[in-house]
Amino acid sequence: MEKVVIMGSGCAGLTAALYSARANLKPLVLTGRQPGGLLTTTSVVENYPGFPEGIDGNELMTRLQKQAERFGARVHFGEVESVRLSKDSLLLTVDGGPMETETLIIASGASHKHLGIESEALLENQGVTYCATCDGALPIFRDKPLVVVGGGDSACEEALYLTRFGSVVYLVHRRDQLRASRIMADRVFAHQKIKPIWDSVVTEVLDVKQNKVTGVRLLNVNTNATSVIDCSGVFVAIGHIPNTQLFKGMLEMDEHGYIVPKHGTATNVPGVFVAGDCADRVYRQAVTAAGTGCAAAIEAERYLAARKE
Ligand code: NAP
Repeated sequence: MEKVVIMGSGCAGLTAALYSARANLKPLVLTGRQPGGLLTTTSVVENYPGFPEGIDGNELMTRLQKQAERFGARVHFGEVESVRLSKDSLLLTVDGGPMETETLIIASGASHKHLGIESEALLENQGVTYCATCDGALPIFRDKPLVVVGGGDSACEEALYLTRFGSVVYLVHRRDQLRASRIMADRVFAHQKIKPIWDSVVTEVLDVKQNKVTGVRLLNVNTNATSVIDCSGVFVAIGHIPNTQLFKGMLEMDEHGYIVPKHGTATNVPGVFVAGDCADRVYRQAVTAAGTGCAAAIEAERYLAARKE
């Protein structure tokens, strides 16, 4: 039986691992399908405290993993496929095999939201992507017009990053104001290569017949006018959905699927704690994820100590 299993290896999961490893609990981290979490798809992280020049997202996560492993955390590439959580036992199926644990820290993060149109799905990886840092440098995007969809910090970051490769970057947003933080918005407005397209949504990605992206069909939500702009890539950056589907019906969630902690990081099942983006609809920052990861580890440690007594 494991003492502490941590589901997820982003900022929340690895910080929980660091703290529970230092408490001598030899935590087992199951990385999930995206080791290092969403930060590994970011270029430079400029707002993590302690790095005045910024730090590459991948490097930050690699360092955090090493730090946790140094104190005895075990990081395994593996995916939790199903769970049976009750006050008597916490049972997981991991890569086909059973696993029992005394405590579970859920730090499963969030995944990219999709536009939900058929052509988007059909052209995924054929020019439609959800990660500029992963795909932006591909030859198909070089010196070509590119489209970024969204109005938040992610969309701004993607657009700015893509100015290195694209000839022009259209930022398509469904309103006439960005949701992004002021500093990101200012950088976007100041960049000559970025052209915002306001009040518009993508209704179709062209061209499924050619099996590659040649443009997008836009609808202006105010005037109902439609238009087509030519582009070679569509980068969707419209937010995230929490990775909590496995826990539906077992853990309390809000209407968007975020797990609702009871107090601190505890959930409605004893021994199950939650940290990071899968329980945070408001802040969703690397540093807040790390903070709740720390809190979850401390609470798991206290829970185990109380159980022993
Ligand atoms: P977000 O803040 O939720 O923004 C999502 C954007 O996509 C919004 O502008 C939203 O429009 C738009 N949108 C949502 N659904 C849409 C749909 N179906 N069709 C078209 N547009 C849609 O998400 P995010 O940008 O990924 O940021 C998430 C969190 O991470 C935020 O807290 C952000 O500050 C943080 N973050 C920070 C940085 C940084 O500081 N460098 C970088 C990335 C992310 P509306 O505005 O109309 O709702």
